[in-house]
Amino acid sequence: MEPNRPGTRIAHIGVAVEALAPLVPFYRDILGMAEVPLADSDGAKIVGLAAGESLVELLEAERPDTPIGKFVAKRGPGIHHVCFAVDDLDGMLAKCQAAGYRLIDQVPRVGAEGKRVAFLHPTSTGGVLVELCDK
Ligand code: ZN
Repeated sequence: MEPNRPGTRIAHIGVAVEALAPLVPFYRDILGMAEVPLADSDGAKIVGLAAGESLVELLEAERPDTPIGKFVAKRGPGIHHVCFAVDDLDGMLAKCQAAGYRLIDQVPRVGAEGKRVAFLHPTSTGGVLVELCDK
């Protein structure tokens, strides 16, 4: 692990999958990324895999009527969101809102890593679902 530098960095990339089991070996055994235990979140089973300071989070829907289930049904498996760790989450959310970016979460909530997170709507960020989290 590198020291925790100030400034925004990629915390994780969320990848929506149809099933975890066939994909974990690619990241773990072929790419050599260590598995990181993560809690289920938003109706998704999650496997974290470490790439330096960042994670790849594989997200498998537990039911069709969940955010990941709906995403996979509509768009197929693939990159779902990018999460940036920021120095001041509350300040960053206020900055985004003041600048006209559409917030999905007006107030941060607790995400899979046990940290506070908040999402920005992809219609205001070039089609990318952006998650912001505490460091
Ligand atoms: Zn995430």
